[in-house]
Amino acid sequence: TIGMVIIDKNGEVAAGTSTNGATHKISGRMGDSASPGSGAYAMEGVGGAASTGDGDIMMRFLPSYHSVFLLSQGYSPTESASESINRIISVYPHFMGAIVVASINGSYGAVCTGLPSFSFSLQFDSRTIVETVECI
Ligand code: ASP
Repeated sequence: TIGMVIIDKNGEVAAGTSTNGATHKISGRMGDSASPGSGAYAMEGVGGAASTGDGDIMMRFLPSYHSVFLLSQGYSPTESASESINRIISVYPHFMGAIVVASINGSYGAVCTGLPSFSFSLQFDSRTIVETVECI
């Protein structure tokens, strides 16, 4: 999956995901990437999130929506992503996935599970940074 959260200089937010889908997916599978709130979600005045991982599980939890909702309630990006991942692994302990969350205030975070680590990139104007987080 390629997931993006974009915040422009006016604080306008957009988020989206694109994927080649799950390995051995069944014909006609829509998956999480095309499902708003699951693969990605953006909320005006708050921020956005993008998720990757086992989409058949993620579609049951809308982790991108859940993360952005928590962000709107005052959670930090990392806390929001962490709550969403923990909500999934409390039901599916072997879930593999990651969520990236960005706030319009410039803070961001990522949380992953089922992998050793997860890398994501940030771009500020022409400057690109790659960050890696250890998974829970
Ligand atoms: N979420 C994608 C899917 O289940 C897979 C991925 O993130 O690579 O289709």
